[in-house]
Amino acid sequence: MKSIKLILSMAFLATLCFSCEKQEENEAPVETAIGEDTEAKEVLFNNHVPTTILKVNGEEVAVGDLGNGEYLYNGDIVVSETDLSEFLSDQEGVKANWAGARRWANRTIYYQFASGFSSSKRNTVLSAMRHISSRTRIRFVQGRGRGNYVNIFTDARGGNYATVGMAGGRQSFSLGRNNLGVAIHELGHTIGLHHEHSRPDRDRHIRINWNAIPSDSRSNFRKTGNNYGRFDWNSIMLYPSRTRNGVSDMVSISTGRPFNNAIESGRNYLSSGDIACINAYYR
Ligand SMILES: [Zn+2]
Repeated sequence: MKSIKLILSMAFLATLCFSCEKQEENEAPVETAIGEDTEAKEVLFNNHVPTTILKVNGEEVAVGDLGNGEYLYNGDIVVSETDLSEFLSDQEGVKANWAGARRWANRTIYYQFASGFSSSKRNTVLSAMRHISSRTRIRFVQGRGRGNYVNIFTDARGGNYATVGMAGGRQSFSLGRNNLGVAIHELGHTIGLHHEHSRPDRDRHIRINWNAIPSDSRSNFRKTGNNYGRFDWNSIMLYPSRTRNGVSDMVSISTGRPFNNAIESGRNYLSSGDIACINAYYR
């Protein structure tokens, strides 16, 4: 009996160690070498959208100007001036909830493909939707529902961007890159996710080199959302570091080095943390 107990305890300990190892492995940032060619790492960035300065709540914020009263905040998040004002005064909201009432009713997201959206990108977006639906409670339904829906198109400037959560009425979703990981990332915003590197506790995991970031791009690194779950290096919502002239805008505090994100590492799928967050939000 004693020996059985001992064996069981050993098995239990072995399982524990295995879980620890697995957890550590999951939590390790994927490093990139300083000086590495950044071209391959640019899939999420919107370099061709002009920048403008908005004065919001008495503060100057650099944003991408999409025209028609739409702006890009935090890199690829579509906002109006009103959204931005609400957003900046409510930074400690829920990770997957921006200023309340941003959930899609019945966990159902309606969408339409704009005319001229290429069939190959259409297939990419449909694959991304199938991936998300198979792992979460979210459903994607083609059509306009009751008038709240996502219009999927390609910005001629090649941008990738989306609104966080349901905006009300027709909302923008641009896929410039025909890339599955990018499509899942942008759909993550549509569902309601913010960026992992923007969460309020990120300074315990990531060091921002503010001096390496042009002043008109610093708003891309503002904290938003909340700290749902543990900081997730595998999240598809994490941006990679960008290195220019040997200096990186973000480095991992644990390694002191720049890091890749899921897409650049070839992991074009939601992490277990992303799935848990979406399912917690859409119970
Ligand atoms: Zn994004």
